[in-house]
Amino acid sequence: MLKETFVRLITLLLCAFALIWTRAQPVAADGLTIEGDTFPLSPHLEFLVDDSAKLTIETIQQQPSSNWFKVKDETPSFGFMEQVLWARATLINSTPEQKRFLLEIAFPPLDNVQLFQLNRNDLLYQATVGDTLAFSARPFDHRNFLLPITLQPEAQDTIYIRIQTGGALQLPVTLWEPIHFFLHDQYALIINSLFFGIIFVMAFYNLLLFIRVRDTVYLYYIGYVSTFYIYQLIGTGLGFQLLWPNALLWNNYCSAIILPLNIVFVALFFVRVYAVQNTHPKTHRLILVIALLALTCMLLPFFISYHVAIISSVALVACGGALALWVCYYLWYQNPSRTNMYLALAFSVFLAGAVVLALSKLGFLPRSPLTEYAARIGACIEAILLSYALAERLHEARIAAENRTQKANEKMLNLAHQHAATLEEKVALRTRELEQALQQVHSLNNSLKDLSLTDQLTGSRNRRFMDEYLAREIKSARRNKQCLSIMLIDLDHFKQVNDTYGHAVGDLCLKVVSDTIANNLRQPPDEVCRYGGEELVVILPNTARSDAKQVAEKLRVCIESLNIQSEEQLVHVTASFGVSCFEPSTELSPTQLLQEADRALYQAKHSGRNRVVFAEREN
Ligand code: GH3
Ligand code: MG
Ligand code: MG
Repeated sequence: MLKETFVRLITLLLCAFALIWTRAQPVAADGLTIEGDTFPLSPHLEFLVDDSAKLTIETIQQQPSSNWFKVKDETPSFGFMEQVLWARATLINSTPEQKRFLLEIAFPPLDNVQLFQLNRNDLLYQATVGDTLAFSARPFDHRNFLLPITLQPEAQDTIYIRIQTGGALQLPVTLWEPIHFFLHDQYALIINSLFFGIIFVMAFYNLLLFIRVRDTVYLYYIGYVSTFYIYQLIGTGLGFQLLWPNALLWNNYCSAIILPLNIVFVALFFVRVYAVQNTHPKTHRLILVIALLALTCMLLPFFISYHVAIISSVALVACGGALALWVCYYLWYQNPSRTNMYLALAFSVFLAGAVVLALSKLGFLPRSPLTEYAARIGACIEAILLSYALAERLHEARIAAENRTQKANEKMLNLAHQHAATLEEKVALRTRELEQALQQVHSLNNSLKDLSLTDQLTGSRNRRFMDEYLAREIKSARRNKQCLSIMLIDLDHFKQVNDTYGHAVGDLCLKVVSDTIANNLRQPPDEVCRYGGEELVVILPNTARSDAKQVAEKLRVCIESLNIQSEEQLVHVTASFGVSCFEPSTELSPTQLLQEADRALYQAKHSGRNRVVFAEREN
């Protein structure tokens, strides 16, 4: 596609120049002695341009030889020629045998080709071929125009070829001995098969990839390669021969439709593969403009003319090709990825092939099978490189996705770590707060417990404490085989104290007495508790009867000697003591022990108060 159009554009310019040059140098017609098995006729042909398109085989013979000119190319090219072109040559068979040849015109897109073989003025053979005529009308079923030429012994015949075509006009004419033609054609067929086979496989393989990957870039690639494939089928005449031998209308217009469609696919391929709408919006727009122009070109053959359509398409191919190459290298320079490298290489190889073919057609390079097939070899390599570029693109996309996933994972891990750290901090903070609160509750509990076991007035232990403590200490004494003594203390005539000094003084006396007792005990384990009213209980663990008697006496004396200061008077109080003792030999309960002490206290009261009485035990 690109190659052909590029070649055509250059050849159009150069051949126009060649035409002017050769017109100025008319050549006299000489006879050609046909020798050998292959005779390239093109360089020996004489040409005449029939502007009016009215010349016939009769009138053409009357044209002065100055109107004829020669183009010494192996493949004369006349670009896009609207006029009718005549070519002629005089063939001489200098042998005494009849010779049969095949005249091959290896340029299948020609619309209408008429061959006339004359001996002097006698028309020996006439045939009309062309791609506007049904394929079956050809003398031989072949992709190129093949016409039989028979030269009689010692004969000198002139052949005239009248060509009229809407597209490019090239005239590679060769005379072959039939057997050599078929030998030569084998190689051409093999190379064509290879070329079409490779392109077909690439398209099919990428179709499978598209089905699997669902990326439209593969679809555009298939579109690009397929339209190129069809364009080559048209160019080689194989399409007309094998696929649409009777579709004349299609055969005539397909080039003008397929060529711009090919540009559309190339443009879409570029848009998708480079994805530059955000990074290079101008380039992106330019590619889209080319695609739009190509779409417009597709409509031209229906509304204007095939000639204008094909010239527009070729011009567009030239511009699009240059743009494609520039985009490839520019973007490769901007982003030197492997994908971009393969894309640039692909288009370069294709263009190199096209240039080699063009140079060979123009005579700058010797014609050889390599130069002849350079563009197709380039196209094959291009298709393979493009497909490889797509594979590389997929690989790069996968690597990028993996990198993104890894980064996302790292980010998530960091976040998780941060959250864990924050959570740990919060938990530690909450734990500390909870511990503090628990401590507060604990100390509050202790305070409450302390309060609940303390007598408010005297500040000594209360009755509840006494009950628990006495029970516990008796158990301990029983376990340890120890004695325990208790004393029940009752202030004497305390009603009278209250009555005399008032209740406040009475309260003060209670507190002073309680403190005095506490100060004279070995606390712990001795404890003083308020039993009730003006009565106190003293518990003396591990204290024998004799020791308890001494302690009671000491306490009694202390109380008696107290001078309790109340306003301006001194108050004196005395107390009576009832003492009882738990001994390991007796099994008294706390209640029994208290009852004993109470009884002793009762005796102390009755025997005159302010004294210590020991509970007598009946055995
Ligand atoms: P006795 O020598 O026989 O024990 O005579 P008493 O007056 O002390 O005994 P009584 O049982 O007749 O009176 C007890 C008095 O103790 C009655 C009450 O006024 C006084 N009292 C009891 N509890 C308190 C108290 O908490 N504060 C004050 N100020 N007096 C109290
Ligand atoms: Mg009392
Ligand atoms: Mg009393």
